[in-house]
Amino acid sequence: MSGFVTLLGAGPGNIELLTLLGKRRLEHADVVIYDHLVNPDLLSYAPANADFLYVGKKPYQKHISQDEINDLMRVQAEAGKKVVRLKAGDPFVFGRGGEEGQYLREHNVEFEVVPGLTSAITGLAAAGIPITHRDYASSFHILTAHQTGSQPLNWDSIAQMEGTLVFLMGVAELHTIVTELLKRGKTATTPVAIIQWATQWRQNTGIGTLSDIEAIVKRQHISSPALIVIGGVVNLSQQLSSHRALERKHILMPFSTHTRTHDLLADAGASIDFFNLGDQQSHDVDLPDFNQSGRLVITNLRAFEYLQQQMMQVGLDQRALSGWQLLATNNLIKERLQQRGVLVDHVIDLANLNATDWVVGEQNDLSTMSFDDSNVDRQLMTYTDIFKQQSISSPDTFDAVVVTSKRACLALVHGLEPDQLKQIQTVPVFTLGDKLATFLSDNGFQSVTNVGNLAQMVPHVKKVIKND
Ligand code: SAH
Repeated sequence: MSGFVTLLGAGPGNIELLTLLGKRRLEHADVVIYDHLVNPDLLSYAPANADFLYVGKKPYQKHISQDEINDLMRVQAEAGKKVVRLKAGDPFVFGRGGEEGQYLREHNVEFEVVPGLTSAITGLAAAGIPITHRDYASSFHILTAHQTGSQPLNWDSIAQMEGTLVFLMGVAELHTIVTELLKRGKTATTPVAIIQWATQWRQNTGIGTLSDIEAIVKRQHISSPALIVIGGVVNLSQQLSSHRALERKHILMPFSTHTRTHDLLADAGASIDFFNLGDQQSHDVDLPDFNQSGRLVITNLRAFEYLQQQMMQVGLDQRALSGWQLLATNNLIKERLQQRGVLVDHVIDLANLNATDWVVGEQNDLSTMSFDDSNVDRQLMTYTDIFKQQSISSPDTFDAVVVTSKRACLALVHGLEPDQLKQIQTVPVFTLGDKLATFLSDNGFQSVTNVGNLAQMVPHVKKVIKND
């Protein structure tokens, strides 16, 4: 069976700026080949057991040659794999996507192109710069200042262009760009913007004119990758850029799927980095005799779901519990069960269990609870959380950590590499509920805030973290 290559546009970096088709392709990838410019968080859309091959091409650096990348795609596809070649922005805007397609066609490897949002347009919008505007520019010109292997730029005609000029791969050539344009009649007051890591938490924007942009770039330590924008539209940046409460804040949040908390923080302008919650291993347990009446204490929703699955395997559904009292160990579990159509009789404190109660929960959790000896046989440990060690990129860059479940707390404490955990323990953490806050403080996190409820999350994070 022959495989297939998708030349996939990753967009400018913010992971929600991927297309729906792009997401679907990643979800089914066997192999993902990606570069330096691609936000590594996008890889979390791919199956955890896919192969992730970093071909870290940086400008002016020959890490791995284009020929090697081409061969890699071909070999993987010929082995029958679904290969996603993940490329920054749009695959056909610079970045050699066209050449990769030609190579695949020449070698009879089936492929498709899935467009992405190009940084050359959307990167400007992230800094409040519309690439066209009736008052300033009715055309735009996207150029690369990186000359290797292409025709020299015709500065005479570039300087004549009326539309917005956008240079990619241009930071190292900024001096040449400025000098050539000034020499050919652009005025020193022509507005210029330079936008590094557009749409991401590390976005760094410098705004000036042809006369002072070089000094601004030095002062603000702006480097590659960046877009250089020249033209009147740059003047709109002040008016059109967004100033949301958590603009450009970098937040670490352990979660496996998108949550409401994620959306709230992202909508306030933060960039959220995933941290995987790990896996779960379910276990068969000795089921109680449901013909007898009894009390079932639910300490964990997932554990109850695994119990239901096991009951289902022997032909039992919720009706088997009709003679039973159902108790939850906190209100959240009670509410969530109710949302699933299961009514909880009441919430019970673990200290008040009866010796005859059946307790369903996660293995490690139940092991740390102190039970009456007679109750030991009645523990239904239906699954175990497995936290594989993970590393995160640049732990020193986070402004905040947000954790909203016990499992997320455990994933951080047991899943982070020890050195990284030490660093993350110094970052302000925000959580929901006293129990989680106490757990985190007990586990070495130095600044823990219980925000109480979700609506308070954004205001609290904003108040506590530095506003630079
Ligand atoms: N195919 C890409 C461009 C690849 S060329 C696209 O459509 O966006 C690489 C150049 O793209 C970088 O040197 C930089 O100029 C620009 N670039 C890509 N992503 C960027 C980002 N998030 N912020 C600023 N510049 C970016």
